[in-house]
Amino acid sequence: MLAHTPHPGKKLVFFPYWRYRGIRFNCIENEIEHQFVDVTHQAIDSPFFPASMGLRAQAMRLSFVSPQPTGRFLAPALSVQDVLKRQEQRFKSEMVGRNAYHQSHVGEVLSLIYSPFYVGTQVVDAVLNRPVSDTLPESFLDTVAVLDPSARQMRFLSAICPACGWNLSGERNAIVLTCTNCNSAWQPAGGSLKQVPNGFLVDEDADLFLPFWRIAADISGIPLSSYADLVHLANLPRVVQKGWDQVPFYFWSLAFRLSPKVFLSLSIRMNLTQPQEKPVPGNPRGTLYPATLSVTEAVDTLKTSLAGMMKPTDTGFPKLPQIHIKPLRFALVYIPFRSGHHEWLQPKFSMAINKNTLSLTDH
Ligand SMILES: [Zn+2]
Repeated sequence: MLAHTPHPGKKLVFFPYWRYRGIRFNCIENEIEHQFVDVTHQAIDSPFFPASMGLRAQAMRLSFVSPQPTGRFLAPALSVQDVLKRQEQRFKSEMVGRNAYHQSHVGEVLSLIYSPFYVGTQVVDAVLNRPVSDTLPESFLDTVAVLDPSARQMRFLSAICPACGWNLSGERNAIVLTCTNCNSAWQPAGGSLKQVPNGFLVDEDADLFLPFWRIAADISGIPLSSYADLVHLANLPRVVQKGWDQVPFYFWSLAFRLSPKVFLSLSIRMNLTQPQEKPVPGNPRGTLYPATLSVTEAVDTLKTSLAGMMKPTDTGFPKLPQIHIKPLRFALVYIPFRSGHHEWLQPKFSMAINKNTLSLTDH
């Protein structure tokens, strides 16, 4: 919530806004462009409150909502997906005249921010003490749902392995925690920890393991169920060998954030590589880079990766709107990298990541 000094005796209403900061990839004409997005948007459709928070979410001090403040916290009526969909529609209308085929997002910050207002016959911004709308129907507060006070309480999950009781390991920003005792991996879901299928590729000389999501999906709109299909889609300079139509195609996505260009090019490279080695179940011994991108977010970028694999793009991109990707199964797979002078190297897949782009101490 935004910090403010309450006026005693005035009726306080906390109005919710979604804040989304991240990267949007746009498949436009025959290229994939990206842009940085940082938006706030009403989480309840209402003409009586400002449509967005302007720059306040970035510029002002925020504190966690607790059960203490008195006032009505309005429950969000729109999901963040609804808000992103509207942003996309607005973006599409701005792109009229250009061929925009697909958008996807990689989020960095997603939060619900409460902004305080005094509510009487008019709505007054409680931070600036300035009216924002002249009239407010008397019945307004009866038409909106109020947040359950228990939902205003921050909840903590103890980082104890649900399978064996060991302390889980993970960095501050990790969304997947690992157990070094029973080799399992866990992520928070709906107030508890849920097991994540996990595995790794072997390299005795690995210095670092980077997390990737391997996703089996049902793809409609184009044929892409086998390695042979991929060779055609990407126009790979290879002659399709017997049996390649039996090698299943998996999507691979980074499970961590990188600058947009590197993120996309590494995802495309992994998808084109299609590692055939079966991952060993469990967590590797060694240094694990934290997984910070959820599988849900990864799924949102699959079509953009697919677009990046298409060759040529001018005949491929127009098919994008008809392509649907339905994820079926996923696993977190740690890929071994060796330390080079300036890069982390994965020689088998000809991958290199500049060491400056992965910070090992400050993530
Ligand atoms: Zn365990």
